[in-house]
Amino acid sequence: MKQPDAGFRSGFIAIIGRPNVGKSTLLNCLVGQKIAITSPKPQTTRNRILGILSRDDAQMLFLDTPGIHRAKSSLNKYMVDQARAACQDVDLVLWLVEADRPIDTDSPVHEVLANVSTPVVLGINKVDLVDKDALLPMIDAYRQQRKFADIVPFSALQGTGVDTLQQVMLKHLPEGPRYFPEDQVTDLPERFIVAEIIREQVLNRTQQEVPYGVAVIVESFQENQKRNMINIGAVINVEREAHKRILVGKGGSMVRNIGKAARLEIERLLGVKVYLELFVRVQKNWTSSDRMMKEFGYE
Ligand code: GDP
Ligand code: MG
Repeated sequence: MKQPDAGFRSGFIAIIGRPNVGKSTLLNCLVGQKIAITSPKPQTTRNRILGILSRDDAQMLFLDTPGIHRAKSSLNKYMVDQARAACQDVDLVLWLVEADRPIDTDSPVHEVLANVSTPVVLGINKVDLVDKDALLPMIDAYRQQRKFADIVPFSALQGTGVDTLQQVMLKHLPEGPRYFPEDQVTDLPERFIVAEIIREQVLNRTQQEVPYGVAVIVESFQENQKRNMINIGAVINVEREAHKRILVGKGGSMVRNIGKAARLEIERLLGVKVYLELFVRVQKNWTSSDRMMKEFGYE
């Protein structure tokens, strides 16, 4: 790894905001690769995800946090705690809101940020959905709410304004080392990303309370060097028998479709052929159980 020059900047940036504002979409756009799953359904991201953006003059380390909202179940409370912890220990906070939503005055994000002295950049996402004229009054209104280091409108989906956002964030990072090799985009293990890709396919095909109660565990991950492929066995855990019936589908059709779509995506990610075997298992009320949460990796 070559030593960075003087003036090289680096630092951690926590991306926070309500569920569905586009945090994961922005992260993928910034690092130029899909590392966080995205979905029109809220609460898609459950764990902290690190995205690494390497430039010649800087390395920006983004933390995609679970959406902040008021806590009810153990899982919700866990997600809020994750977001709060993420903000305390970073160089910059990027708070995302949506251009096509009314100003968020009662946001639980205010609570999280109240005790945080880190500078905050406000990113107004989804500007592709609104009239340009609506933006200035919106920026003014947010400015009344708290002190922001900067306010930047952009569209993570279309990529407009994302370069500006990058430049603005860079200004707020200190001089520092290159923490990761230039070609690395995340610190997540492959197993984790594989489990997330499967969960994304479940989310894409299910409604209401089914997706919320889904946890995917990769139980085996074996390279078959002779055949140059990887055998993966994964379990889709659900909260109820009824959810299992939905996920298995008629004659197993649903789980087969999930498996096929996930396999294609995993093959693209890993660059080799994959044999994917999926099981659906009922774990009653795991989202309310601290023990089960731990077992599923949400600590
Ligand atoms: P998160 O919960 O904050 O991580 O949000 P996601 O990144 O999963 O995005 C939630 C939904 O908003 C997805 O359907 C995205 O495609 C959509 N989305 C994200 N950014 C934009 C954007 O700039 N414009 C539009 N129109 N949709 C977006
Ligand atoms: Mg997300």
